[in-house]
Amino acid sequence: MDGQGKGVDGAPLWTPLALAQATGGTLRGVAPDAAIGGVSIDSRTLQPGDAFFAITGERDGHDFAAAAAGRGAALCVVAAARLGELPADMPALVVEDVLKALEDAGRAARARSGARIVAVTGSVGKTTTKEALLLALGADGPTHASAASYNNHWGVPLSLARLPASVAYGVFELGMNHPGEIAPLSAMVRPHVAVITTVEPVHIAQFPNVEAIADAKAEIFTGVEPGGAVVLNRDNPHFDRLAAAARAAGIGTIIGFGQSVAAQARLLSVALQPQSSTALADILGETVSFKIGLPGRHIVQNALAVLAAAKLAGADLCLAGLALASLGPPPGRGVRTALAVKGGAALLIDESYNANPASMRAALAVLAGTPVEGRGRRIAVLGDMLELGPTGEELHRGLAPEAGRADLVFSAGPLMRALHEALPENRRGAWAPDAATLLPLLAERLRGGDVLMVKGSNGSRMGPLVRALAERF
Ligand code: ATP
Repeated sequence: MDGQGKGVDGAPLWTPLALAQATGGTLRGVAPDAAIGGVSIDSRTLQPGDAFFAITGERDGHDFAAAAAGRGAALCVVAAARLGELPADMPALVVEDVLKALEDAGRAARARSGARIVAVTGSVGKTTTKEALLLALGADGPTHASAASYNNHWGVPLSLARLPASVAYGVFELGMNHPGEIAPLSAMVRPHVAVITTVEPVHIAQFPNVEAIADAKAEIFTGVEPGGAVVLNRDNPHFDRLAAAARAAGIGTIIGFGQSVAAQARLLSVALQPQSSTALADILGETVSFKIGLPGRHIVQNALAVLAAAKLAGADLCLAGLALASLGPPPGRGVRTALAVKGGAALLIDESYNANPASMRAALAVLAGTPVEGRGRRIAVLGDMLELGPTGEELHRGLAPEAGRADLVFSAGPLMRALHEALPENRRGAWAPDAATLLPLLAERLRGGDVLMVKGSNGSRMGPLVRALAERF
């Protein structure tokens, strides 16, 4: 099910009247009982019959309200102060503050829902875990999940406002870059089960240390429903700190997942394959064997959290385990395509969506486990990992052992220079100051049988490099 929130009973997601009651706004030029099928903040992707919330992000949503109405929006939620600028005949719900109205709609959707709610946060693996939960819970009953990586101050209320009244499960991703961001999101979502995938030095530039990151993730506990549960990474060094915070928040059920013998969702055995993994796990006393359709030990780790959360949410573990086989990569997180290069086909693994030390190591391990054909080589194409603060260079240099498992490393960006210089001569492909300059240096060296894995922070522009490779070959 996508983010548009169609219910299982065919009932409309909202009516104008219900939205007006939720937000305290005033309707104008729209029948109070009209059917609203979805909630949108983007006039380009809006479906006819959606409610358009004109929130202000990089652009002011009011500038697009007329376009949304033209595409068939059931109504536009707009600020009273801006009403004069908008077409007089536009169906509207007039509010004081559009973002607050979206939050109110989210809270109202949550309040009317009987679904079991799972919230996911963590330094890496949120979207993968959320997608896997959508499959696992969806095998048991109708499930709604946040779309894409909608995990911030507008993504969470938008995802909640799309929660149909009649689904059995809801899955929401909560993200943060700064302390204090998760608590209000968790208070809105009010999860029955809260998952923290892991704690790593991501966005460390905004925090004094990794412990402070753990504390910011622990804010999720404050919104957990009475009698709810938390699922924590038993293998992460911050487990004890998080478990103590959960106890302090009054949460009685604290489940660890991982390989540790102390984990209650414990990996018993695993076979890692190039494109998937099969594993046996003990999930709260129930033995489950499962296959997961993405490669890497880190994905198996996420799957343990998924299965524990699914069981705690009341889903059938056997169905949940079976469903994980069809997990595929979200865009830019391991999508594989073939390139027609000199002398045959090369395999491109697109990891360009984002990078930090933890996900970089995970992707390099997957590359190391991917077979090559003939004279092919494993090639890592790496862009800078950003937002690492003063430790940035050291964290790049520190990747040398894992990056050195590739046959060749091409890298771009000022921070990656530290890694380039730390690699043995025979592993150095080329270094360039930016991705665009690296492209021709890489392209001329590719040959049939190669496997190349491209990864970097969004701002290092490895995505355009992937697209340029796909166009050229
Ligand atoms: P973001 O906050 O950037 O949206 P995210 O937390 O949602 O990220 P994903 O999108 O699921 O994380 O994954 C991002 C990258 O991290 C992918 O390359 C994925 O393979 C990798 N990854 C996923 N889970 C883990 C994990 N548990 N440990 C390390 N890397 C992981």
